[in-house]
Amino acid sequence: MNVESIIAEKGRHVVTVGPGSLLGDIVSLLSEKRIGAVVVTEGEAIRGIISERDIVRMLARDGAQALARKASEAMTARVITCSPADTIHQVMQQMTSGRFRHVPVLHDGRLAGIISIGDVVKRRIEEVEREAEQIREYIATA
Ligand code: AMP
Repeated sequence: MNVESIIAEKGRHVVTVGPGSLLGDIVSLLSEKRIGAVVVTEGEAIRGIISERDIVRMLARDGAQALARKASEAMTARVITCSPADTIHQVMQQMTSGRFRHVPVLHDGRLAGIISIGDVVKRRIEEVEREAEQIREYIATA
């Protein structure tokens, strides 16, 4: 199973903000959309990614004043991305070694979706359940 099959099912829309967006507004956006991260873009260019963890870090450092800071001050600028052809296994490895839970999908240099750890775990559980069912059927008919 690959990244394309996930975004074909869940959708290719990615919630984005500009580098000048305020953290207070991003908190509202994350809550409203029920997501954990947004991609920071300028036109079509990806400038960074900002997750709830980055906002918590700023809040711990600056208190409530952090909410008036800009996305560009809290984001991670070196964004690790994947392509539609990558396997779920490859994306799981990226998340594990990089210790993050979101990977934007790039197709021909353009944002084409985002994979979260929840998407990966859901597909992996489905795969394991399917394999177990096949083994059960095989044993029952052997
Ligand atoms: P997360 O686990 O996704 O909430 O993110 C944990 C940390 O990794 C935060 O500092 C994020 O900005 C950063 N991060 C999340 N996704 C990525 C990514 N795809 N590439 C690089 N950094 C990321």
